[in-house]
Amino acid sequence: MIPYGRQSIDQSDAEAVATATRAPMITQGPTIERFEEAVASYVGASHAVAFSSGTAALHGAAAAAGLSTGDEVVVPPITFAASVNCVLYVGAKPQLVDVSSDTLNLDLPAAADRIDELGAKAAVPVSFAGLPVALERLAGVGEGVTIIEDAAHALGAERAGRKVGADGGADMTAFSFHPVKPMTTGEGGMVVTASEELAERLRAFRTHGIVRDPEVAEREGPWFYDLKEIGFNYRITDIQCALGLNQLPRLDSWIERRNEIAETYRKALADVEDVILPPAAGDGDLHGYHLFAVQIRGGPERRRTVFEILRASGIGVQVHYIPLYRLSLYREMGFDPVDYPNSERYYQGAISLPIFPALGPQETTRVVETLRGALAETGDSIPSDT
Ligand SMILES: *Cc1c(COP(=O)(O)O)cnc(C)c1O
Repeated sequence: MIPYGRQSIDQSDAEAVATATRAPMITQGPTIERFEEAVASYVGASHAVAFSSGTAALHGAAAAAGLSTGDEVVVPPITFAASVNCVLYVGAKPQLVDVSSDTLNLDLPAAADRIDELGAKAAVPVSFAGLPVALERLAGVGEGVTIIEDAAHALGAERAGRKVGADGGADMTAFSFHPVKPMTTGEGGMVVTASEELAERLRAFRTHGIVRDPEVAEREGPWFYDLKEIGFNYRITDIQCALGLNQLPRLDSWIERRNEIAETYRKALADVEDVILPPAAGDGDLHGYHLFAVQIRGGPERRRTVFEILRASGIGVQVHYIPLYRLSLYREMGFDPVDYPNSERYYQGAISLPIFPALGPQETTRVVETLRGALAETGDSIPSDT
Protein backbone atom coordinates (compact mmCIF):
# COMPACT_ATOMS: atom_id res chain seq x y z
CA MET A 1 0.00 0.00 0.00
CA ILE A 2 1.35 3.46 -0.93
CA PRO A 3 0.30 5.64 2.05
CA TYR A 4 -1.05 9.17 1.54
CA GLY A 5 1.81 10.49 3.67
CA ARG A 6 4.89 9.13 5.41
CA GLN A 7 7.86 10.38 7.43
CA SER A 8 11.41 10.55 6.06
CA ILE A 9 13.83 8.95 8.53
CA ASP A 10 17.48 8.20 7.73
CA GLN A 11 20.50 6.74 9.54
CA SER A 12 21.51 10.15 10.90
CA ASP A 13 18.06 10.53 12.51
CA ALA A 14 18.42 7.15 14.20
CA GLU A 15 21.89 8.10 15.46
CA ALA A 16 20.70 11.49 16.75
CA VAL A 17 17.96 9.75 18.74
CA ALA A 18 20.36 7.08 20.06
CA THR A 19 22.79 9.78 21.21
CA ALA A 20 19.98 11.73 22.90
CA THR A 21 18.93 8.67 24.92
CA ARG A 22 22.41 8.62 26.53
CA ALA A 23 22.41 12.32 27.50
CA PRO A 24 22.13 13.16 31.23
CA MET A 25 18.67 14.61 30.68
CA ILE A 26 16.22 12.88 28.34
CA THR A 27 13.44 15.34 29.16
CA GLN A 28 13.50 18.93 30.54
CA GLY A 29 17.05 19.20 29.24
CA PRO A 30 18.79 21.67 26.91
CA THR A 31 17.83 20.03 23.60
CA ILE A 32 14.27 21.34 23.86
CA GLU A 33 15.43 24.95 23.89
CA ARG A 34 17.90 24.27 21.08
CA PHE A 35 15.07 22.87 18.96
CA GLU A 36 12.81 25.82 19.83
CA GLU A 37 15.54 28.27 18.86
CA ALA A 38 16.21 26.41 15.61
CA VAL A 39 12.54 26.47 14.54
CA ALA A 40 12.10 30.12 15.65
CA SER A 41 15.12 31.13 13.59
CA TYR A 42 14.01 29.00 10.61
CA VAL A 43 10.56 30.63 10.40
CA GLY A 44 11.67 34.08 11.58
CA ALA A 45 9.75 34.17 14.87
CA SER A 46 10.90 35.81 18.11
CA HIS A 47 9.68 33.00 20.39
CA ALA A 48 8.92 29.30 20.11
CA VAL A 49 7.42 26.96 22.72
CA ALA A 50 7.49 23.22 22.01
CA PHE A 51 4.66 20.91 23.10
CA SER A 52 4.00 17.17 23.25
CA SER A 53 1.70 17.40 20.19
CA GLY A 54 0.16 19.87 17.77
CA THR A 55 -3.11 19.40 19.64
CA ALA A 56 -1.44 20.40 22.95
CA ALA A 57 0.11 23.39 21.13
CA LEU A 58 -3.36 24.54 20.00
CA HIS A 59 -4.73 24.04 23.52
CA GLY A 60 -1.84 26.15 24.84
CA ALA A 61 -2.52 28.87 22.27
CA ALA A 62 -6.24 28.99 23.15
CA ALA A 63 -5.37 29.26 26.87
CA ALA A 64 -2.61 31.84 26.32
CA ALA A 65 -5.10 33.93 24.32
CA GLY A 66 -7.16 34.08 27.51
CA LEU A 67 -10.17 32.42 25.90
CA SER A 68 -12.77 31.12 28.32
CA THR A 69 -16.44 30.39 28.88
CA GLY A 70 -18.76 32.15 26.47
CA ASP A 71 -16.05 33.55 24.17
CA GLU A 72 -16.82 33.01 20.49
CA VAL A 73 -14.08 31.62 18.24
CA VAL A 74 -14.29 31.39 14.42
CA VAL A 75 -12.99 28.16 12.81
CA PRO A 76 -13.33 26.75 9.24
CA PRO A 77 -15.07 23.36 8.80
CA ILE A 78 -12.51 21.77 6.45
CA THR A 79 -9.84 20.80 8.95
CA PHE A 80 -8.83 18.16 11.48
CA ALA A 81 -10.95 18.13 14.66
CA ALA A 82 -8.00 19.38 16.77
CA SER A 83 -8.40 22.86 15.20
CA VAL A 84 -11.80 23.26 16.87
CA ASN A 85 -11.45 20.94 19.88
CA CYS A 86 -9.03 23.45 21.44
CA VAL A 87 -11.95 25.91 21.59
CA LEU A 88 -13.98 23.46 23.69
CA TYR A 89 -10.95 22.61 25.89
CA VAL A 90 -11.01 26.17 27.26
CA GLY A 91 -14.82 26.28 27.53
CA ALA A 92 -15.21 28.73 24.64
CA LYS A 93 -17.78 28.54 21.85
CA PRO A 94 -16.85 27.52 18.29
CA GLN A 95 -18.45 29.31 15.34
CA LEU A 96 -17.90 27.63 11.99
CA VAL A 97 -17.50 29.90 8.94
CA ASP A 98 -17.36 28.36 5.45
CA VAL A 99 -14.19 28.05 3.38
CA SER A 100 -13.61 29.85 0.08
CA SER A 101 -13.88 27.56 -2.97
CA ASP A 102 -10.81 29.29 -4.48
CA THR A 103 -8.43 28.40 -1.64
CA LEU A 104 -10.29 25.87 0.57
CA ASN A 105 -9.08 28.06 3.43
CA LEU A 106 -11.34 30.14 5.69
CA ASP A 107 -13.41 32.63 3.66
CA LEU A 108 -11.72 35.69 5.16
CA PRO A 109 -14.22 38.47 4.32
CA ALA A 110 -17.02 36.24 5.68
CA ALA A 111 -14.93 35.45 8.77
CA ALA A 112 -14.21 39.16 9.39
CA ASP A 113 -17.95 39.95 9.15
CA ARG A 114 -18.82 37.12 11.52
CA ILE A 115 -16.16 38.19 14.02
CA ASP A 116 -17.60 41.74 14.06
CA GLU A 117 -21.18 40.52 14.25
CA LEU A 118 -20.53 38.17 17.18
CA GLY A 119 -17.86 40.18 18.91
CA ALA A 120 -15.74 37.03 18.60
CA LYS A 121 -12.57 36.92 20.68
CA ALA A 122 -10.44 34.80 18.37
CA ALA A 123 -10.19 32.95 15.06
CA VAL A 124 -8.30 29.78 14.16
CA PRO A 125 -7.63 30.06 10.41
CA VAL A 126 -6.05 26.87 9.00
CA SER A 127 -3.45 26.77 6.22
CA PHE A 128 -5.16 23.74 4.75
CA ALA A 129 -3.02 21.25 2.82
CA GLY A 130 -0.04 23.60 3.24
CA LEU A 131 -1.50 26.55 1.30
CA PRO A 132 -0.87 29.64 3.47
CA VAL A 133 -4.14 31.32 4.49
CA ALA A 134 -4.08 35.03 3.45
CA LEU A 135 -3.98 36.40 7.01
CA GLU A 136 -3.49 40.00 5.88
CA ARG A 137 -7.18 39.98 4.96
CA LEU A 138 -8.05 39.62 8.64
CA ALA A 139 -5.93 42.65 9.54
CA GLY A 140 -9.07 44.82 9.73
CA VAL A 141 -10.70 42.88 12.58
CA GLY A 142 -10.86 44.41 16.06
CA GLU A 143 -7.86 45.01 18.32
CA GLY A 144 -8.83 42.44 20.92
CA VAL A 145 -9.23 39.55 18.46
CA THR A 146 -6.49 36.91 18.74
CA ILE A 147 -5.55 35.11 15.53
CA ILE A 148 -4.24 31.58 16.09
CA GLU A 149 -3.05 30.08 12.81
CA ASP A 150 -3.29 26.30 12.67
CA ALA A 151 -0.24 25.69 10.49
CA ALA A 152 0.00 21.95 11.21
CA HIS A 153 0.25 21.47 7.41
CA ALA A 154 2.37 24.49 6.63
CA LEU A 155 5.77 24.41 8.34
CA GLY A 156 8.20 25.42 5.57
CA ALA A 157 5.49 27.04 3.40
CA GLU A 158 5.77 30.76 2.60
CA ARG A 159 3.37 33.68 2.63
CA ALA A 160 4.49 36.76 0.68
CA GLY A 161 8.08 35.52 0.66
CA ARG A 162 8.23 34.82 4.43
CA LYS A 163 7.91 31.51 6.22
CA VAL A 164 4.56 30.74 7.82
CA GLY A 165 5.03 31.59 11.51
CA ALA A 166 7.29 34.62 10.93
CA ASP A 167 6.70 37.66 13.18
CA GLY A 168 4.03 39.86 11.62
CA GLY A 169 1.66 36.98 10.80
CA ALA A 170 -0.83 35.49 13.26
CA ASP A 171 -0.57 36.30 16.98
CA MET A 172 0.33 32.64 17.49
CA THR A 173 1.09 29.95 14.91
CA ALA A 174 0.80 26.25 15.81
CA PHE A 175 2.76 23.47 14.11
CA SER A 176 2.55 19.67 14.39
CA PHE A 177 5.41 17.18 14.20
CA HIS A 178 3.24 14.09 13.74
CA PRO A 179 4.93 11.67 11.28
CA VAL A 180 2.70 12.58 8.30
CA LYS A 181 3.38 16.31 8.75
CA PRO A 182 6.18 18.30 7.00
CA MET A 183 8.81 17.04 9.50
CA THR A 184 8.55 14.86 12.59
CA THR A 185 9.52 14.33 16.22
CA GLY A 186 7.31 11.21 16.52
CA GLU A 187 4.63 13.19 18.31
CA GLY A 188 5.16 16.88 18.96
CA GLY A 189 4.07 20.41 18.29
CA MET A 190 5.13 24.02 18.67
CA VAL A 191 3.69 27.51 18.98
CA VAL A 192 5.66 30.43 17.57
CA THR A 193 4.85 34.05 18.40
CA ALA A 194 6.27 37.56 18.30
CA SER A 195 4.98 38.19 21.83
CA GLU A 196 7.17 37.61 24.87
CA GLU A 197 4.07 37.72 27.10
CA LEU A 198 2.25 35.01 25.13
CA ALA A 199 5.43 32.89 25.09
CA GLU A 200 5.62 33.07 28.88
CA ARG A 201 2.00 32.02 29.26
CA LEU A 202 2.56 29.15 26.81
CA ARG A 203 5.58 27.95 28.84
CA ALA A 204 3.68 28.02 32.12
CA PHE A 205 0.70 26.22 30.55
CA ARG A 206 2.97 23.47 29.21
CA THR A 207 4.30 22.72 32.72
CA HIS A 208 1.28 22.61 35.08
CA GLY A 209 1.01 26.42 35.23
CA ILE A 210 4.28 26.69 37.17
CA VAL A 211 5.86 30.16 37.25
CA ARG A 212 9.08 31.22 38.96
CA ASP A 213 9.51 34.80 40.12
CA PRO A 214 13.13 35.50 41.16
CA GLU A 215 12.00 38.13 43.71
CA VAL A 216 9.61 35.74 45.44
CA ALA A 217 12.25 32.99 45.42
CA GLU A 218 14.65 35.43 47.09
CA ARG A 219 12.11 36.01 49.88
CA GLU A 220 10.73 32.45 50.24
CA GLY A 221 13.73 30.31 49.36
CA PRO A 222 15.37 29.05 46.18
CA TRP A 223 12.96 26.09 45.85
CA PHE A 224 9.94 28.33 45.59
CA TYR A 225 7.61 28.39 42.62
CA ASP A 226 4.04 29.49 42.25
CA LEU A 227 0.92 28.38 40.42
CA LYS A 228 -1.38 31.19 39.31
CA GLU A 229 -3.36 29.48 36.56
CA ILE A 230 -3.99 25.82 35.81
CA GLY A 231 -1.71 24.10 33.29
CA PHE A 232 -0.89 20.60 32.08
CA ASN A 233 2.09 18.37 31.52
CA TYR A 234 2.35 18.96 27.77
CA ARG A 235 6.13 18.68 27.57
CA ILE A 236 8.03 17.24 24.63
CA THR A 237 11.18 15.22 25.43
CA ASP A 238 14.82 15.95 24.60
CA ILE A 239 14.88 12.68 22.65
CA GLN A 240 12.10 13.91 20.37
CA CYS A 241 13.74 17.32 19.99
CA ALA A 242 17.03 15.66 18.96
CA LEU A 243 15.09 14.03 16.11
CA GLY A 244 13.48 17.37 15.23
CA LEU A 245 16.84 19.18 15.22
CA ASN A 246 18.27 16.56 12.89
CA GLN A 247 15.23 16.72 10.56
CA LEU A 248 14.97 20.52 10.25
CA PRO A 249 17.96 21.10 7.89
CA ARG A 250 16.31 18.80 5.33
CA LEU A 251 12.86 20.42 5.51
CA ASP A 252 13.33 22.86 2.61
CA SER A 253 14.43 20.06 0.27
CA TRP A 254 11.35 18.04 1.31
CA ILE A 255 9.03 20.98 0.57
CA GLU A 256 10.72 21.33 -2.81
CA ARG A 257 10.21 17.63 -3.48
CA ARG A 258 6.53 17.89 -2.48
CA ASN A 259 6.13 20.77 -4.95
CA GLU A 260 7.72 18.65 -7.71
CA ILE A 261 5.32 15.79 -7.01
CA ALA A 262 2.39 18.23 -7.07
CA GLU A 263 3.58 19.54 -10.47
CA THR A 264 3.79 15.95 -11.75
CA TYR A 265 0.19 15.30 -10.67
CA ARG A 266 -0.99 18.61 -12.14
CA LYS A 267 0.56 17.86 -15.55
CA ALA A 268 -0.64 14.26 -15.60
CA LEU A 269 -4.19 15.21 -14.64
CA ALA A 270 -4.51 18.51 -16.53
CA ASP A 271 -6.63 16.97 -19.29
CA VAL A 272 -8.84 14.94 -16.97
CA GLU A 273 -12.13 16.84 -16.88
CA ASP A 274 -13.57 14.86 -14.00
CA VAL A 275 -10.77 15.89 -11.64
CA ILE A 276 -10.67 19.34 -10.03
CA LEU A 277 -7.06 20.04 -9.04
CA PRO A 278 -6.28 21.61 -5.65
CA PRO A 279 -5.77 25.39 -5.43
CA ALA A 280 -2.21 26.45 -6.26
CA ALA A 281 -0.13 28.99 -4.32
CA GLY A 282 -0.44 32.64 -5.36
CA ASP A 283 2.47 34.90 -6.38
CA GLY A 284 5.06 35.20 -3.63
CA ASP A 285 3.63 32.21 -1.74
CA LEU A 286 5.13 28.73 -1.46
CA HIS A 287 2.76 25.79 -1.01
CA GLY A 288 3.73 23.23 1.62
CA TYR A 289 1.78 20.41 -0.10
CA HIS A 290 1.21 18.40 3.04
CA LEU A 291 -1.78 17.11 1.07
CA PHE A 292 -2.69 16.86 -2.59
CA ALA A 293 -6.48 16.75 -2.32
CA VAL A 294 -8.31 16.51 -5.65
CA GLN A 295 -12.08 16.65 -6.12
CA ILE A 296 -13.82 14.04 -8.25
CA ARG A 297 -16.78 15.33 -10.27
CA GLY A 298 -19.95 13.29 -10.45
CA GLY A 299 -21.21 13.25 -6.89
CA PRO A 300 -20.56 11.37 -3.65
CA GLU A 301 -21.46 7.89 -5.01
CA ARG A 302 -18.82 8.14 -7.69
CA ARG A 303 -16.26 9.54 -5.25
CA ARG A 304 -16.87 6.55 -3.01
CA THR A 305 -16.41 4.04 -5.85
CA VAL A 306 -13.24 5.75 -7.11
CA PHE A 307 -11.90 5.81 -3.52
CA GLU A 308 -12.61 2.10 -3.09
CA ILE A 309 -10.99 1.19 -6.42
CA LEU A 310 -7.85 3.14 -5.46
CA ARG A 311 -7.68 1.50 -2.03
CA ALA A 312 -8.21 -1.96 -3.54
CA SER A 313 -5.32 -1.21 -5.93
CA GLY A 314 -2.92 -0.47 -3.08
CA ILE A 315 -3.16 3.32 -3.22
CA GLY A 316 -3.68 4.55 0.36
CA VAL A 317 -5.93 7.48 -0.47
CA GLN A 318 -7.75 9.34 2.30
CA VAL A 319 -10.44 11.99 2.67
CA HIS A 320 -9.29 15.22 4.35
CA TYR A 321 -11.52 16.06 6.05
CA ILE A 322 -15.00 15.09 7.08
CA PRO A 323 -16.30 18.65 7.66
CA LEU A 324 -16.51 19.46 11.36
CA TYR A 325 -20.30 20.06 11.21
CA ARG A 326 -20.74 16.42 10.13
CA LEU A 327 -19.11 15.07 13.31
CA SER A 328 -21.77 14.19 15.90
CA LEU A 329 -20.26 16.34 18.64
CA TYR A 330 -20.47 19.48 16.50
CA ARG A 331 -23.62 18.57 14.58
CA GLU A 332 -25.40 18.27 17.93
CA MET A 333 -24.26 21.80 18.74
CA GLY A 334 -26.51 22.92 15.89
CA PHE A 335 -24.12 23.32 12.95
CA ASP A 336 -25.93 22.47 9.71
CA PRO A 337 -24.39 21.44 6.36
CA VAL A 338 -26.69 23.83 4.42
CA ASP A 339 -24.80 26.77 5.94
CA TYR A 340 -21.51 25.59 4.41
CA PRO A 341 -22.10 25.10 0.66
CA ASN A 342 -18.41 25.46 -0.33
CA SER A 343 -17.23 22.97 2.28
CA GLU A 344 -20.01 20.54 1.27
CA ARG A 345 -19.18 20.76 -2.45
CA TYR A 346 -15.51 20.12 -1.69
CA TYR A 347 -16.24 17.24 0.69
CA GLN A 348 -18.53 15.42 -1.77
CA GLY A 349 -15.62 15.04 -4.22
CA ALA A 350 -12.51 15.06 -2.02
CA ILE A 351 -9.78 12.43 -2.28
CA SER A 352 -6.20 12.97 -1.08
CA LEU A 353 -3.62 11.35 -3.35
CA PRO A 354 -0.31 10.14 -1.86
CA ILE A 355 2.32 12.86 -1.45
CA PHE A 356 5.53 12.61 0.62
CA PRO A 357 9.21 13.29 -0.17
CA ALA A 358 10.20 9.68 -0.90
CA LEU A 359 7.33 9.09 -3.34
CA GLY A 360 9.02 8.13 -6.63
CA PRO A 361 8.08 8.68 -10.30
CA GLN A 362 6.94 5.07 -10.76
CA GLU A 363 4.57 5.46 -7.82
CA THR A 364 3.09 8.75 -9.02
CA THR A 365 2.57 7.17 -12.44
CA ARG A 366 0.81 4.23 -10.79
CA VAL A 367 -1.42 6.60 -8.81
CA VAL A 368 -2.35 8.59 -11.92
CA GLU A 369 -3.03 5.53 -14.05
CA THR A 370 -5.12 3.86 -11.37
CA LEU A 371 -7.11 7.07 -10.91
CA ARG A 372 -7.67 7.43 -14.67
CA GLY A 373 -8.81 3.80 -14.80
CA ALA A 374 -11.20 4.30 -11.87
CA LEU A 375 -12.68 7.40 -13.53
CA ALA A 376 -13.16 5.54 -16.83
CA GLU A 377 -14.84 2.66 -14.99
CA THR A 378 -17.29 5.00 -13.21
CA GLY A 379 -17.75 7.52 -16.04
CA ASP A 380 -21.33 6.56 -16.97
CA SER A 381 -22.68 7.48 -13.57
CA ILE A 382 -22.02 11.20 -13.96
CA PRO A 383 -25.25 13.15 -13.90
CA SER A 384 -25.21 15.82 -16.62
CA ASP A 385 -25.53 18.74 -14.21
CA THR A 386 -22.44 18.13 -12.07
C1 LIG B 1 -2.26 17.07 12.62
C2 LIG B 1 -3.11 18.25 12.86
C3 LIG B 1 -3.31 18.80 14.13
C4 LIG B 1 -2.88 18.12 15.40
O1 LIG B 1 -1.57 17.78 15.46
P1 LIG B 1 -1.10 16.52 16.37
O2 LIG B 1 0.37 16.75 16.43
O3 LIG B 1 -1.47 15.28 15.63
O4 LIG B 1 -1.75 16.63 17.68
C5 LIG B 1 -4.02 19.98 14.25
N1 LIG B 1 -4.56 20.57 13.17
C6 LIG B 1 -4.43 20.06 11.94
C7 LIG B 1 -5.04 20.78 10.79
C8 LIG B 1 -3.72 18.87 11.74
O5 LIG B 1 -3.64 18.33 10.52
